Amino acid sequence: MYNNNFMKKLRRLREIKYLLCLEKVFAFVINVVVIPGCYGFQMLVVRPAIDEEYHTSTSAVVANVLFSTFLFINVIGNLGLCITTDTSLAKNLNEVTYAHEETGNYCKWCKSIRPEKCWHCKLCNACILRRDHHCVFLSRCIGRRNYRYFLLGVSYTSLATTYALYWNYLFVRAQFESFVQAFVSFAVLINPFFRIMFVFDVGYRDVSYRDIYTSYFILNILIWFWLIHVAFYHLINAAADLTTYEIMKLRKRRDFKYWKENLVNVFGTRWYYALVWPFSRSPVPERIMI
Ligand SMILES: [Zn+2]
Ligand SMILES: [Zn+2]
Repeated sequence: MYNNNFMKKLRRLREIKYLLCLEKVFAFVINVVVIPGCYGFQMLVVRPAIDEEYHTSTSAVVANVLFSTFLFINVIGNLGLCITTDTSLAKNLNEVTYAHEETGNYCKWCKSIRPEKCWHCKLCNACILRRDHHCVFLSRCIGRRNYRYFLLGVSYTSLATTYALYWNYLFVRAQFESFVQAFVSFAVLINPFFRIMFVFDVGYRDVSYRDIYTSYFILNILIWFWLIHVAFYHLINAAADLTTYEIMKLRKRRDFKYWKENLVNVFGTRWYYALVWPFSRSPVPERIMI
C-alpha cells in the first residue's frame, strides 16, 4: 500500500517535471523567438513594402520606427521582468509582517504560515504572494511582485498587435487585387485541396509568400481579439483588487470603490514612470499584515 502510494507520487512528480520542461520550452519560443521575430518582420518586411507602395515621407518612417520600437521595448521589457521577478513568499518575506500569526493559513507543502491571497503553486513548487494564476506563456506564477509587469506586458502586447493590425492590413491589401483573392490565398494554405475549387474562379497559382502574409494577418486578428480580452479582464480585476482565483473559484463580485488605491498597489507609487518604462523603479506602498 505504502509502496503503491509512493510510486503514484513519484509518477505525478515526473509528470509535473515533464510538463514544466515543455512549458519552459514553449515560453522560451514565445518570448525569445516569436515576439522578437514579429517585431523584426514588421520592421524589415512590412514597413519597407508599405513605404514603397504609399511613398511614405522620411519623418513618417522615423515616427513609425520609433513608436514600434517603444512598443517592442515595453512588451519585451515587461514580459522579461515578469519572468525574472520572483513573487514567492519565501523570497519576499521582508514584505510580510507577522503580527497575528494565527489569522494566516498554513501551507502543508512549504510548512509555513502564509498571508491572505497567498496560494501554493505545484508547478512553481512555492507559495506565491497574492497569487493570480500560473501563466504558461511565461512559465511563471503571476503574483504581487510581478503583476505590474504582467499587466503592462499584456497591455503593451495588445497595443502592439492593434498597431501591427493596421500595417498588416495595408501590407496584405497591397499584395492582392481583391479581397476574394486574399481569402482564397488563406483557404488554400490551410487546406491545399481548396485549390481545385478555386482555380477556375480566380485563376489561383501555386502557394507563395503572399499566402503566408495573409495567414500572418489572420493570426494577427485572432491574437488581437484574445489579447484585448485578457488585458481588459486583468485590468478590471486589478482595479477591484481581486485575483483570477477569487473571481473564478470564490465567485467574488468586483467593487471599484478604491480603484485608484488598488491600481497604485499594482503599478507602484511612481506609476507614471512604470507605465512608459518597464525598467523604472516603482515601489508598492502597502505591507502585508498577517
Ligand atoms: Zn506553499
Ligand atoms: Zn506557478
